[in-house]
Amino acid sequence: FSASGDAIRHRFLNFYAARGHKILPSASLVPDDPTVMLTIAGMLQFKPIFLGKEPREVPSATTAQRCIRTNDIENVGRTSRHHTYFEMLGNFSFGDYFKREAIIWAWELTTKEFRLPPERLWISVFEDDEEAYSIWHDEVGVPKERIKRMGEDDNFWTSGVTGPCGPCSEIYYDFHPDRGHEDVDLGDDNRFIEFYNLVFMQYNKKDDGSLHPLAQKNIDTGMGLERMARILQKVPNNYETDLVFPIIEKASKLARVSYAKSDNATKTNLKIIGDHMRAVVYLISDGVVPSNIGRGYVVRRLIRRVVRIGRLLGINGDCDGNLDGAFLPVLAKTVIELSTHIDPDVKSRESRILEELKREELRFVETLERGEKLLDQFLANALSNGGKNGDRSCLSGKDAFLLYDTYGFPIEITAEVAEERGVTVDMKGFDIEMENQRQKSQAAHNVVKLSVESEGKLLQDIPDTEFLGYDTLSASAVVK
Ligand code: ATP
Ligand code: MG
Ligand code: MG
Ligand code: MG
Repeated sequence: FSASGDAIRHRFLNFYAARGHKILPSASLVPDDPTVMLTIAGMLQFKPIFLGKEPREVPSATTAQRCIRTNDIENVGRTSRHHTYFEMLGNFSFGDYFKREAIIWAWELTTKEFRLPPERLWISVFEDDEEAYSIWHDEVGVPKERIKRMGEDDNFWTSGVTGPCGPCSEIYYDFHPDRGHEDVDLGDDNRFIEFYNLVFMQYNKKDDGSLHPLAQKNIDTGMGLERMARILQKVPNNYETDLVFPIIEKASKLARVSYAKSDNATKTNLKIIGDHMRAVVYLISDGVVPSNIGRGYVVRRLIRRVVRIGRLLGINGDCDGNLDGAFLPVLAKTVIELSTHIDPDVKSRESRILEELKREELRFVETLERGEKLLDQFLANALSNGGKNGDRSCLSGKDAFLLYDTYGFPIEITAEVAEERGVTVDMKGFDIEMENQRQKSQAAHNVVKLSVESEGKLLQDIPDTEFLGYDTLSASAVVK
């Protein structure tokens, strides 16, 4: 069968539709939920139903949910499997079926519909979940050596600091069964890929961390579309699937390099571009505008990273048509071409998306050109002063703040460039500068302060999968 990304999505949804699930559309990347900044999983739109706050309209549903996970930004291009933007295929039960059906269907889908060889599949269960263990072993017939009991970090799933949660069970694909069954680490990116997580959602986690049984037992699952595509398309990583590779090819063309012939560093940079471009197109499509606060800062940071990396790769100016020197709109067009099966609305928002990207890119290029010289100088100073006590050279918080405040350098970009030259950044010092400025500005702008405080509250509530460390940064920048 065709293993295209579109075909996989289609097969997943139809498999569950044939088993009584209603196919529902993806929710927006901007959730209707103050405890999370962006949609990180398929279950988010169903949270009120899981919590019993809203009645269910159907007993079970299936979706292809667009997700953003900023906590994986450092993994992008470095592991073979992580994106900031990806699609999560899911099947959900609202007090309808539970563990047994969820496990048996997941196995049937994986081995019959997607035809993955059973002997390549490994299972993880929560350490004391005997019920899940016995369904996998006694009913499905997975041998003991391929079922691993794992602890809370991997096998107890929570959508945020509070909310519905429960033990989970995951399916992994083994690329190297020849390596045997001894001392295996399912997290080993060179051998395994986790592709399907089944969450047995039966508790509500309160502020104090206590677990309370939900009125109903629910099922929440997630299968990474790009990961299944990577397995079925037999490519070395998610980025080389038909879901992302056309963007990488376009970027390679603009940079006049060949992906296949590139060294690993260049490949990583091209993968980051492929990943981040999808994220920014969908974020802008869902109404997020680049800014210095919250979600706006996420999209700004991603855009600026692509601009900087693109320039490193030698992409500059009018590479394709009359775009006034901006290359992000060129790449965005490729993303939009790929998007029609996922979210037809993106196409209708094309001109706004391209405009927004062009504006943000050109604005950043200007600051980049001015700031780069200064940053070079700071780094040269740090290098000549540093290393005296055997420590690494360090860029002061004051300098990093000046670059941020006057030249619009996201602190992460300063840190990234510094890292490339072997210099660290005094992040504590940077935070202190931020806080000083915030206090000064608050005194001066009481009116704006109100709106900042409400945003600040939102940011405090976000789970640690988001930019928790930078809420002071976001807040003070808006007060300016
Ligand atoms: P990993 O351990 O690989 O980081 P996870 O355990 O954090 O994955 P889950 O929270 O269980 O992931 O999400 C359900 C599924 O969504 C995963 O099994 C995977 O297929 C997919 N997924 C999760 N994070 C990503 C990501 N950053 N990029 C692509 N797919 C992802
Ligand atoms: Mg993860
Ligand atoms: Mg995991
Ligand atoms: Mg998981």
